Amino acid sequence: MKQTLYLKFLAGYLIFGILGFLLVSTLTNYALRSQVQAAESRTLYTECTEIASSYASNYYNGNMKLSNLHSYLETISQYMNTNIEVIDVSGRIIVDSGDSEAFHNEAAIQGFNINDFGNRYYMVNQFYGRFSEDYLTVFAPITPSYKVLGYVLIHKPIADISDYTYQLLDVAYITLLLIFLLAFIILLVFSLLIYRPIHKITLAADAYINGDFSHKIGIHTQDEIGHLAAAVDYMANELNTLEDDQRKFVSNVSHDFRSPLTSIKGYIEAILDGTIPYEMQDKYLNIILFETERLNKLTSSILELNQFGSHGKTILYMNNFDINYIIRMTALAFEGICSEKHISIELILSGQNLYVTADMAKIQQVIYNLTDNAIKFSHPDSSITVETTEKNDKVFVSVKDSGIGIPKESLKKVWERFYKTDASRGKDKRGTGLGLSIVKEIIQAHGENINVISTEGVGTEFIFTLSLSKEQYK
Ligand code: ATP
Ligand code: MG
Repeated sequence: MKQTLYLKFLAGYLIFGILGFLLVSTLTNYALRSQVQAAESRTLYTECTEIASSYASNYYNGNMKLSNLHSYLETISQYMNTNIEVIDVSGRIIVDSGDSEAFHNEAAIQGFNINDFGNRYYMVNQFYGRFSEDYLTVFAPITPSYKVLGYVLIHKPIADISDYTYQLLDVAYITLLLIFLLAFIILLVFSLLIYRPIHKITLAADAYINGDFSHKIGIHTQDEIGHLAAAVDYMANELNTLEDDQRKFVSNVSHDFRSPLTSIKGYIEAILDGTIPYEMQDKYLNIILFETERLNKLTSSILELNQFGSHGKTILYMNNFDINYIIRMTALAFEGICSEKHISIELILSGQNLYVTADMAKIQQVIYNLTDNAIKFSHPDSSITVETTEKNDKVFVSVKDSGIGIPKESLKKVWERFYKTDASRGKDKRGTGLGLSIVKEIIQAHGENINVISTEGVGTEFIFTLSLSKEQYK
């Protein structure tokens, strides 16, 4: 199995790291640079206006000599690590803190236009080609008598400001690294809490696919994954029992078919090769007939059971009928066998007619199967009671005998297909062990209940419910 999920987690993590790095190196870098430039230009602007309104204005008013102004500006510029200039409105340099001869040279800033600053008081460039690298230049007008006479310019190399930006950027990178490490811890926890359990579930599913249902997932958490694991475990268990049931069913069917077929084959061969003399043939032909009937019954029972099933819907032909009448008719059908065994059937029926809503043919079969069992497992000279009782909107039908009873440990199993208690094997060779399975399927298909009460050696009572027909209330 490819561990693609894990690789996806890892790829996601790496993409997160790369995107984070790209974000810091572009967007954060740009934002920090502009913020730092704006902050620096504000500081420089304060300084600039200060110089413009004091020293530069004093010079223009004639209160300060040019050389003094130059030495002041030189001191300040050294202190601030900048270059300070005073220029007139046309761009002619009056004082340059870095060049004491500037005035004498009558140097001018070629192409200077104060409007190039736009609506800002700073710009970042090589300032009309005067510098070989980018400078932050801030200006403030000199207005000693409310008239602009010139400007104070402060230049600062961008490289100086960038140092500070880089320091801030380093902090951003370190933060990113810490987030990346934290995300790695989260990835580990995530892998422990989610990836590992899912991996376990997949391994288990693989084992189930290969038929190894003994594999246990072993996750018992109370979250969604625990729930999923429990569901998969349950499904595997169901599949396992289903497979077991199927195997049991097939082996039971083959066994039940094989034994009568073997005896039929044996007797026919013996008749054909003369081992069984002519005068004895009748007896063995009767046995063959008996076995053939058994095979017939087995086939129809299996076919019938096949119509039911936990997932397939059984089609019921519901109608209103008199259950008392059905019971009376069934009892009549057993009269022959009963008189042979000296068994009497006592009917305790509620009212003359008792209408129920159900599939008549199927309920008749239920009563037939239960009465058949009661007679089969009763001692001669005993009595069987079939009783109907009305309670609320239900009818309780009970078939009770005082026969051999069902051992306690077999009580739950009598409903299973092909199940026969050991005690009954000797009593009833013809039985297939399918009668009660059919009964249970029919009652369940009706949405009703059936129960058995039995004591070994004392007797057995089967009770099932039916829905009282609504028409009775009219
Ligand atoms: P079939 O119904 O196909 O003739 P069967 O009667 O053996 O076969 P079920 O009707 O399914 O099969 O009954 C299953 C088993 O339950 C019986 O073999 C018997 O051991 C036990 N059993 C059922 N009814 C009674 C009863 N009234 N008294 C004692 N044991 C019973
Ligand atoms: Mg039976």
